[in-house]
Amino acid sequence: MLKETPYWWDNAPVLPNLVIRSLPDQADVVIVGSGYTGLSAARVLALRGVDVVVLEKETFGWGASSRNGGQVLTGLKLGPSALIKQVGLTRAKELHALSLASIQYLEDLIAEENIGCEYTRPGHIEAAWKNSHFAHYRREQEVLAREFNHPVTLIDREAQSCELGTTYYRGLLIDERSGALHPARFVRGLAICASGSGALLFEKTPATKIMRAGTGYAVVTPQGTIRVENILIATNGYTDNAAREICQRVFSLGSYIVATEPLPADVAEKLIPRRRVVFDSKRYLYYFRLSADNRLLFGGRADYRPPTPHSTRKSAEILRRGMVQIFPELKDVKIEYAWSGNISLTRDSFPRAGQFEGLYYALGYGGHGVAMATYLGGQLANIMCGAPGKNPFQDLPFDPLPFYYGKPFLPLGALYYKLLDVIR
Ligand SMILES: Cc1cc2nc3c(=O)[nH]c(=O)nc-3n(C[C@H](O)[C@H](O)[C@H](O)COP(=O)(O)OP(=O)(O)OC[C@H]3O[C@@H](n4cnc5c(N)ncnc54)[C@H](O)[C@@H]3O)c2cc1C
Repeated sequence: MLKETPYWWDNAPVLPNLVIRSLPDQADVVIVGSGYTGLSAARVLALRGVDVVVLEKETFGWGASSRNGGQVLTGLKLGPSALIKQVGLTRAKELHALSLASIQYLEDLIAEENIGCEYTRPGHIEAAWKNSHFAHYRREQEVLAREFNHPVTLIDREAQSCELGTTYYRGLLIDERSGALHPARFVRGLAICASGSGALLFEKTPATKIMRAGTGYAVVTPQGTIRVENILIATNGYTDNAAREICQRVFSLGSYIVATEPLPADVAEKLIPRRRVVFDSKRYLYYFRLSADNRLLFGGRADYRPPTPHSTRKSAEILRRGMVQIFPELKDVKIEYAWSGNISLTRDSFPRAGQFEGLYYALGYGGHGVAMATYLGGQLANIMCGAPGKNPFQDLPFDPLPFYYGKPFLPLGALYYKLLDVIR
């Protein structure tokens, strides 16, 4: 029987009761959303002695932070050459270094707080879908070494079975610096740290309205209204009309994952011998990895509309077919879990963080949010306290998206990207 909830939820310890009292009527800061962004910020604010309340409309970590692929990746959504073309060499170097700093921040946090989230650093594989994509990897390898002092290895198709048990791809790029973790264990660990540091966390408590009140704000929830000095919107792909101005500035998109039944150890070892995390070079990409109990977790943009139970089931079948194309030996393997989640994207593919009309926000990470959301949440919290914090995204334009009111990304856009995969 197919379970339509994340595999990760069944493998993360149940949180202790973190709600210890009723909603206060005032605080210094309210954070809306309890994913990596919100909880990382809450931890830092509470450690700095700020009176902080986190509001979560579902359960703690319910959004993308407990549903993702757990790939902790170097770089940004844009590859090195595209990054330099878009922002120039100096800024590209700064942003690349920031992606590495975000991984370091995550690793330090996990170590400092002793969060048991199966963190390892197996490295990542980029798999070329076409010969031209592998030629592009060759150019990217040069750029990474020359401009960013970041070595990566290339492996031809003929030799790739030592890294990936398939002939489907046309060669691989290996980056040893990337990591992997159990996303739900990590976000639940963060909730425990934030609460232990003094933040007050409330689940099933949506912020339904945010209004100006004197020098601060009033945040309305079904459980009461809180008056605060500052608000951090940390809702990423789930941003709703409570923060309407922010909602109109980022796209929400569905991403889907299936998990197989546990595979025999020798089969798992043949598929991904070094247990690296993998994604391919298509725009309509696949990403995959092994879990600790040897399931193949296989994800992709199987449907561009925001997830529904119907689209999740339909996508599970699309993903299963994709998985079997790459690994034909899995054709009779059972899919035991299928789930989905929302990511958020900006027009130029860079995250956004800063302050807009008084509201602080950090979001728009695309599929690269595990380390970056954790990092930017922490940095923004420092900035909110007047302490040093790094946020190179604060000067980027943050205009409303034309004809976009927080509704699904057009399926037409999906067709366009699929077409590009065929012709380029
Ligand atoms: C299927 C999938 C796979 C992914 N794989 C990877 C990966 O392998 N590597 C990687 O780096 N990134 C990946 N990502 C992206 C990454 O998971 C996200 O960038 C990151 O989790 C964002 O964290 P967040 O805290 O900003 O948002 P979220 O974790 O989405 O949290 C937002 C929270 O806000 C809450 N909320 C919304 N509105 C309100 C309101 N009005 N009141 C109260 N609460 C509200 C929501 O309920 C939600 O819990 C993936 C994402 C998905 C969906």
